[in-house]
Amino acid sequence: MADQPTKNDGLWEDEQWRSQLTPEQYQVCREKGTERPFTGEYWQTTTDGQYLCRCCAQPLFESSTKFDAGCGWPSFFQPLDKDAVVEERDVSHGMIRTEVMCHKCGCHLGHVFEDGPAPTGLRYCINSASVKLQSSTDDS
Ligand SMILES: [Zn+2]
Repeated sequence: MADQPTKNDGLWEDEQWRSQLTPEQYQVCREKGTERPFTGEYWQTTTDGQYLCRCCAQPLFESSTKFDAGCGWPSFFQPLDKDAVVEERDVSHGMIRTEVMCHKCGCHLGHVFEDGPAPTGLRYCINSASVKLQSSTDDS
């Protein structure tokens, strides 16, 4: 048997993420960090398309559900598919919040709050570092 790390090896995975992501993306996606507001790539973006998981390219959100929450992070009122994300209670930093993660790879995306607009009343507050916009208009 080859002595190569395998996909099931946590270390292999960590190295992969480190080589695939920028240090900031790694910190947000894999260490549940939060980028500073108004600094991310997509907080102001209105381009049509789908937002994919930065780590595994799973489609997570659609531009039609993105809205300007004025909070400095990309905000959506619903995920592309409710099975695309996992929501989990997060009591870190002295707050009770609901963490949102990619269902496929466990990448930390952000948090969901109950102060969003109709029709869901939800605000998925997502780090730009956790997603990658795939524009629906192909310019090339
Ligand atoms: Zn993912």
